[in-house]
Amino acid sequence: MTSLLQTEKRHLWHPFTPMQAWCDEAHDPLMLVSGHGCYLKDQHGNEYLDGNSSIWTNIHGHNHPTLNAAIRAQLDQVAHTSFLGFTHEPAIQLGQQLVDLLPGSALTRVFYSDNGSTAIESAIRMALQYWKQNGHPSRDTILAFDRAYHGDTLGAASVGGIPIFKGSGNDFGYRVQRVPTLDALLGLTEDEITRLSAVIIEPLIQGSAGMRLWPKGMLKALSDWCQKHDIFLILDEVMTGFGRTGKMFACQHEDVIPDFLCLAKGLTGGYLPMAATLTTQRVFEGFLGPGRAFYYGHSYTASQLGCAAALGSLQVFREEKLLETLPAKVQFFQNLLDTLRDLPSILEIRQCGLIAGIEIGPYAPEQMMGVKTCLAARPHGLLTRPVVDTLILMPPLAATQAQLTHMVLALRLAIQETAP
Ligand SMILES: *Cc1c(COP(=O)(O)O)cnc(C)c1O
Repeated sequence: MTSLLQTEKRHLWHPFTPMQAWCDEAHDPLMLVSGHGCYLKDQHGNEYLDGNSSIWTNIHGHNHPTLNAAIRAQLDQVAHTSFLGFTHEPAIQLGQQLVDLLPGSALTRVFYSDNGSTAIESAIRMALQYWKQNGHPSRDTILAFDRAYHGDTLGAASVGGIPIFKGSGNDFGYRVQRVPTLDALLGLTEDEITRLSAVIIEPLIQGSAGMRLWPKGMLKALSDWCQKHDIFLILDEVMTGFGRTGKMFACQHEDVIPDFLCLAKGLTGGYLPMAATLTTQRVFEGFLGPGRAFYYGHSYTASQLGCAAALGSLQVFREEKLLETLPAKVQFFQNLLDTLRDLPSILEIRQCGLIAGIEIGPYAPEQMMGVKTCLAARPHGLLTRPVVDTLILMPPLAATQAQLTHMVLALRLAIQETAP
């Protein structure tokens, strides 16, 4: 074990991780070796509740028999084949099922890719190329919101509004206009509006900004505005999709159907990297005609194993009537979160469905109180990760009442132990 960790520190490089502290001799990284349901087990045999669904991906828990069986069955057929010039049944079945999740809506075309960032890039490129090749080349700007997070590849990061996620700090390749609020957008000049290709937003809640909620009705008002000006609406449901907000998709809370719906994290139940960008027949038809194609794709587009996992996940949604269990679970979760309010270091609790951001403070950022508090939760059996001083709880949808109770209690103890 020791020598494995020595090799790790000698050769590996982790995302969003200050590697000097990571590689310090005193640092004893947690190695996760197995999982079942909402629990993960480390190299010492300790078990933890997966309080952030393995970075916001897991839906049905780990090692779910239905998902495991779906992937095994596919594995005995073939693991991966190219989607460039070929097709396969799992992709077709999944496409139909994704379209059927929003019955009767205009979202009838499915474009596969590998992760949240590429789902976003696909939508942005489709929006830009659509206007360019359909008589409106001046519509070359994507409007995005301050503090937005849409992924880390250069194209997706360009619409992001959180400086530290931008690395070099440069936007890349296309024009982005940024506004703080819907009111600011409503104040755009006619000139600015005619340059817009699409508006992109995380509906209901901005995740990486620290779980910040948009005002009720904002999404609907934004959608109406986009329709009035014939500007595409791109919804980034990479985090909010697949039941996380209490409905299958966040847009269903405000009866909004976008022009592009970007899905990833929970698509495969948190099992395999896979993404889908849903769009309309109108957008699709803008790419028809001689010599026209959407020039974009990845080697693992529509991975057969990924499609099988996604089909397995949707099967669990149906068999376990998961969406029907959510309202009661969300209410229970809210009541639990309310029990934290007596702690003096709680600044604000923000909740949307089974997503919660618990902001503690006020602390100076260099105190790293968010990180310290999450580390203090480990001995109490909870794994999670903060956004600065906002503690995140985002349990798998499969979490039971007892498990939710344990998570919130572990966080409570950790907050009490670390508060100065
Ligand atoms: C995680 C996330 C992304 C990026 O997804 P990756 O799979 O990490 O590339 C994009 N948008 C939102 C809202 C996310 O939470």
